Amino acid sequence: MYKTLQGRQLLKQEIPHPLRKYLKKDNSIKKVKAMTYDKKNIICRRCGHVNDQDSCQINGGFYCDYCLNMGRITSENYLYRIPKIPQKKSQKTHCFWQGELTKQQACISQEILDSYRRKRHHFVHAVTGAGKTEMLFPLIEQVLTDGKVIGIATPRIDVCLELYPRMKEAFQDTEINLLYGHSSQTYNGASFIICTTHQLMRFYRYFDVLVIDEADAFPYVHSDELQYVAKQSLEKKGCFVFLTATSNPRLENYSNTEKSILAKRFHGQDLPVPKTIYCRNLATNLRKGKLPQKMRIEIEASDQSYILFFPDIALMSMVYPIIKKTWQEKQVAMVHASSRDREKVVKQMREGEIDLLLSTTILERGVTFKNISVMVVCADHRVFNRASLVQISGRVGRSIDYPSGNVIFLHEGKNQTIMSAIKEIKHMNKEAKR
Ligand SMILES: [Zn+2]
Repeated sequence: MYKTLQGRQLLKQEIPHPLRKYLKKDNSIKKVKAMTYDKKNIICRRCGHVNDQDSCQINGGFYCDYCLNMGRITSENYLYRIPKIPQKKSQKTHCFWQGELTKQQACISQEILDSYRRKRHHFVHAVTGAGKTEMLFPLIEQVLTDGKVIGIATPRIDVCLELYPRMKEAFQDTEINLLYGHSSQTYNGASFIICTTHQLMRFYRYFDVLVIDEADAFPYVHSDELQYVAKQSLEKKGCFVFLTATSNPRLENYSNTEKSILAKRFHGQDLPVPKTIYCRNLATNLRKGKLPQKMRIEIEASDQSYILFFPDIALMSMVYPIIKKTWQEKQVAMVHASSRDREKVVKQMREGEIDLLLSTTILERGVTFKNISVMVVCADHRVFNRASLVQISGRVGRSIDYPSGNVIFLHEGKNQTIMSAIKEIKHMNKEAKR
């Protein structure tokens, strides 16, 4: 029995010693060369990356540069592709969620189920705060009851961390496996996996249904490699469900795909429309330790907590002590991708213990806080694209008790990105009323 290996694609060194005996015994396990040659290029079979022969040499062989952080893979290695254990026909799975889907949510939920039954991919464009997670419950229940495997993969760890407890609560008697870079869990062969898109590199033809949540997020949307591994981890006749809060032609035009649009938030209120505020020499002044007057006014006028989004860690770290000094009575914290106390800070924010939270774009999506406003500092910086500005705006007003709040874009010049983000938000508000 090798449940803890099923559906995997692994290097020998990734397989625990006691289980290696299966590699020789079981001829359904496929052993393939980890890298293949194509003229001047070396193609990695784990991630699909095309490496240039001259830049990936090691000890007389080659290694893959793209998936290096998943453990080095070289042309000397083999990948072991381990098949799935045939499932029992049906295993009644129960969803414990007590809430009720709105009419629109129920409609889309049904459309996703129909696509699954017809083995078609499905693209869902649901605005921020539409209640995407709940719309998946009927699908998850059905797939697991059919004895099949479902995965929810997302480019962002924070999204995984938020999804997992919600899914645990909704499917209390179902085994769910949470996998990401530093996850405390290891793969256990469960039929319900929540993971980052990077973790899909270790799966081969495992998922009957693979939900890509926040499919328009970096790095997935622009990564041929991550899209390759997602395809490779899906059963040949399996189907994708793409979820995004911003429209995206690259994903929508995926072949054999049905589409659904949900423009209304679950509580029926409008998406907050960003207010743009021009601040002359904004970045330069901040670096000199000067907070713009307009920024202070906005923060002081609000009784909500604020998340202040910064384009990079350097600027944020410079502004952090100034903000602490300016508002000594407020609880101020800072978070970025490599913060050690990231999970703790997010938890404190969720519990309303922080008044001003400084963040990079890592909190732009997938996280829900009650009763907050947001401010994007240097919204015209190239780090912020249309999708991220729409997502950041969508952090506000998500709770039924606090359905509104401020979205402020501080900028030194209104650019095309800012304008197209605002246009999309207004458009969806209009759509919601139709
Ligand atoms: Zn690779």
